[in-house]
Amino acid sequence: AKKLGRNNYQWFDNSLDAEILKALKIRNALQSGIDNKQFELHYQPVFNLHNNELIGCEALVRWNHPSMGLVSPVDFISVAENTGQIVPLSRWILHRACKDFKKVKDLMASEAVISVNISAIHLLRTEFVTDISNALAAAGLEARYLQLEMTETVMVDHPELAIEKLTELKAMGVRIALDDFGTGYSSLSYLKSLPVDVVKVDRSFINELVNHRHDAAITEAIISMAHHLRLKVIAEGVETSAQRDYLRRCGCDAMQGFLLARPMSKITLTEFLESYKAT
Ligand code: C2E
Ligand code: CA
Ligand code: CA
Ligand code: CA
Repeated sequence: AKKLGRNNYQWFDNSLDAEILKALKIRNALQSGIDNKQFELHYQPVFNLHNNELIGCEALVRWNHPSMGLVSPVDFISVAENTGQIVPLSRWILHRACKDFKKVKDLMASEAVISVNISAIHLLRTEFVTDISNALAAAGLEARYLQLEMTETVMVDHPELAIEKLTELKAMGVRIALDDFGTGYSSLSYLKSLPVDVVKVDRSFINELVNHRHDAAITEAIISMAHHLRLKVIAEGVETSAQRDYLRRCGCDAMQGFLLARPMSKITLTEFLESYKAT
């Protein structure tokens, strides 16, 4: 029962109900989405900041729901994680991404990789490493072309299991990137004990890079520390040439963002790569 004496209680309850209802709706719809293959992957190119070469792309999932339209991953990934549906979905994403990349990789730099976002829920499953090798084998793609992006929370919550899995993947030749770096519990010092190759500086720092001293200081510190540990740094969410120039001056290795390319369908990506290669 709702407390009628306090308006704010009622407000809170209503919005909570709406949240739960939305999550329930998504949960049910997700299952038929998985069964009926309503998902598609978009790809966002990543560029080397020193020579402008195209060094890979990040796979970003979209849900093309028959009545809800294009649903953002922000609205369904966390639901899928809570229900465990993320595991079959993530398997499909890995297979699709490896297959698509196999077809376009020759249009990019030789060191180019396909980067796939991995949920902690999937990483910690017993079958995870097998799922990765199955996806690579099904696509006929060598492990060195695959990069897995994960956030640092998994390392904080289950450090031993995460390190064990990542070490196994690295031995296979798969690359590991720490996503949204700087937003979580990131302790710069514990990076050195993790089997990680790449650090992705979160968009929130890049956003204010040119205007705010503090964001600039954090970004510069991440770049310099990562380089000391022989890690590569990718800046995400680069929207202006001022941001790009700044990152270049700081020695950042690569960038991704609306300034140069938005996430796009596989067909659009192929066209983009062909025209980019020609210039
Ligand atoms: P993320 O991994 O940090 O992905 C980057 C997000 O930033 C993407 O949003 C991308 O479209 C957006 N972005 C890229 N460049 C710019 C820019 O210059 N400006 C701005 N404002 N945004 C930019 P998207 O595709 O909506 O994905 C949101 C989040 O959903 C991702 O954040 C990731 O955490 C999750 N996600 C997306 N695809 C997958 C997936 O296949 N599996 C899993 N587990 N999570 C995914
Ligand atoms: Ca990512
Ligand atoms: Ca990110
Ligand atoms: Ca993010």
